[in-house]
Amino acid sequence: MTIYQQKSVVFRRAIVLTMEPGRDALHDTDVLVQDGRIAAIGAGLDAPASAVEIDAAGGILIPGMIDTHRHMWQTAQRGYGADWTLTNYFYFYYINHVHRFRPEDVYAGNLLAALESMNAGVTTTVDWSHGLRTTAYADAAVDALTRVPGRFVLAYGNYAQGPWEWSGTKEFRDFVDRRITGNDLLSFQIAFDMSTDPAFPEQAAFDVARELDVRVNTHAGVWGGSDDAGLRRMADHGVLSDRVIYVHTGSLSEDSYQRIAATGGHVSVATESESAAGQGYSPTRRLRRHGISTSLSTDSSVLVSGDMFHAMRATLGADRALGHLEAHAAGATVTDNELRADDVLRFATRGGAEAIGQDDRIGSITVGRRADLVLIKNDRNPAMFPIIHPAGHVVQQAGAGDVHTVVVDGTIVKRDGVLLLDAQLAEARRVVQESVDHLRASMDEAAWKAGITPDQPDIALIENPYRYGINA
Ligand SMILES: [Zn+2]
Repeated sequence: MTIYQQKSVVFRRAIVLTMEPGRDALHDTDVLVQDGRIAAIGAGLDAPASAVEIDAAGGILIPGMIDTHRHMWQTAQRGYGADWTLTNYFYFYYINHVHRFRPEDVYAGNLLAALESMNAGVTTTVDWSHGLRTTAYADAAVDALTRVPGRFVLAYGNYAQGPWEWSGTKEFRDFVDRRITGNDLLSFQIAFDMSTDPAFPEQAAFDVARELDVRVNTHAGVWGGSDDAGLRRMADHGVLSDRVIYVHTGSLSEDSYQRIAATGGHVSVATESESAAGQGYSPTRRLRRHGISTSLSTDSSVLVSGDMFHAMRATLGADRALGHLEAHAAGATVTDNELRADDVLRFATRGGAEAIGQDDRIGSITVGRRADLVLIKNDRNPAMFPIIHPAGHVVQQAGAGDVHTVVVDGTIVKRDGVLLLDAQLAEARRVVQESVDHLRASMDEAAWKAGITPDQPDIALIENPYRYGINA
């Protein structure tokens, strides 16, 4: 099967969630795509005879979802750390895995994650790529991203050096000149975390970001890792701005939140990962109180899913659970939930576009914007009807398996539930297997298995004065 690179596509009779502020769901509505842009939205639209017609009746059309922090390079070890905490991740992954990575392993992970994004309606993914020890790794990352017709942001990083080292090299600058060439589908950020050095050597990397006119993406507020002191040093050096994306933030103080809010910073929340690994409690409740721009992310498929439906559902659940827990602790009841399904869908679309500075181009279904569109429709799934509350249906009922059609920049990459990227999928299957085989063969089998089965704490049963079968 080939990709449809036709000039026009028209979705017919969809429920359209434009994600424009204050706009309700549009029912029985057509959306016309021409030359990569959204050309018209309305009932019974005229379309060119050559347009590909997509019957969207019974489905929900949303803007393509945007993941603002995913370590795509790790995806070939999908699920390996399903039972990990953050401590397990640092121990097993950084001791046993990352130094064994070759450029082809980064390629394999990126290709697999890129295909997964397309299949699941994530039309833009920020590749938080901190495994780029040399530009040979970075070339491999970009080779994979450009193999798949999605929208990607390479957030360039290198865990093996301080950012003041790698970002200042000729090799890095040559890479940027060679590979970041203004292609609409591939943009650029730099990614690094703050050290504990009070001299703030990171200043040099912020200077590089300013010179390249790109955003900085940083893990901030990770329990036992990056903390308030790092954020305070950023503030003292005047580098907090609306061009910084802070990942997680759950363990930052109120003072740090106020500094982020006052400088227009964006936060990327990865609830599935935060709940499993312990970076800090999913912070949407706090971000809301500070009026901070919020987007969602999936972090690493080594631990959790790369699926934005799960990200939305986990985030809504964590936010509401905390509200109930706090209320019950105070002897009270939450009568009305604060966070709505519509809010988390906004985080997953417009919020992501704002974070990466592309909200004038993507993130909503608006005439003139680039056509990144996802039709959620599955007539074979009983969970897909009736659709009474469209945003609620997307967040609480639908899944990646219900993604019917995906359009990126006007190009259909998935149709009728089938990803139209057979060649890339076949290649991914081969290179991912080779990568897993390489990693496994390069270490002791016991070490490989130990990573899958971290120690499990003993759980002491609470003493129970009652006995089963005995009338107490
Ligand atoms: Zn991360």
